[in-house]
Amino acid sequence: MRRRGVLALVVGLLVLGAEAPAPAEPPRPREIRPDIVWSKIPFGAKRKRQTARYSERHYGERTFELVDPRVVVIHYTDGTSYESAWNHFAANAPHLGERPGVCAHFLIDTDGTIHQLVNLGIRCRHAIGMNWTAVGIEHVGTSAEEILGNRAMMRASLRLTAWLMARFGISWGDVIGHAEILRSPYHHELYEDWRCLTHADWNRREMRTYRRRLKRVAERLGVPLGDGPRWVASGC
Ligand SMILES: [Zn+2]
Repeated sequence: MRRRGVLALVVGLLVLGAEAPAPAEPPRPREIRPDIVWSKIPFGAKRKRQTARYSERHYGERTFELVDPRVVVIHYTDGTSYESAWNHFAANAPHLGERPGVCAHFLIDTDGTIHQLVNLGIRCRHAIGMNWTAVGIEHVGTSAEEILGNRAMMRASLRLTAWLMARFGISWGDVIGHAEILRSPYHHELYEDWRCLTHADWNRREMRTYRRRLKRVAERLGVPLGDGPRWVASGC
């Protein structure tokens, strides 16, 4: 009797298992990580201190650490050379009269090579109002059209962004162009006269194309898409 009961239980579990297959697990981020070349810019104790003080002035918290980033900001360098962009980010020259200098976590070359310049646990100054929570991806080039038309660059960029979405649980709608930052719900800037500052790289129309392609790549890789764009009034 007891043996029959166990048998029934096993059969029952097998039937249950057959009826309710487990949903496909999202990929583990490391399985879809694209090839990334380390090309670190100098980011020693001094630049970290400058970043922490910048964070205190502009976001109200004195830290250089990037924790649980919610946004990816897409840029282009407005130049034609990887080396000049790398040198610019490495120089730590004042920007708008303040240090640290500008930087980006990633810099994608025209041949599609992904260079990582800064550790993902560190804040990088690439987009006013966003640096407290945004990973920055720069593309070597002088227009979004040029990059959208470069297959090697786009392949690299979309794979990189999809991996960041998987790794941090970032929604496809929070992958935004530099020109879109003022209307992101994550935009936050304490300096009144910096609050409406933005850049022209990657506007709404260009980012619609980028995000459409990103969704396709993320879907193919099994990366959860999350929510679409949520825009807020900028008041600017
Ligand atoms: Zn930019």
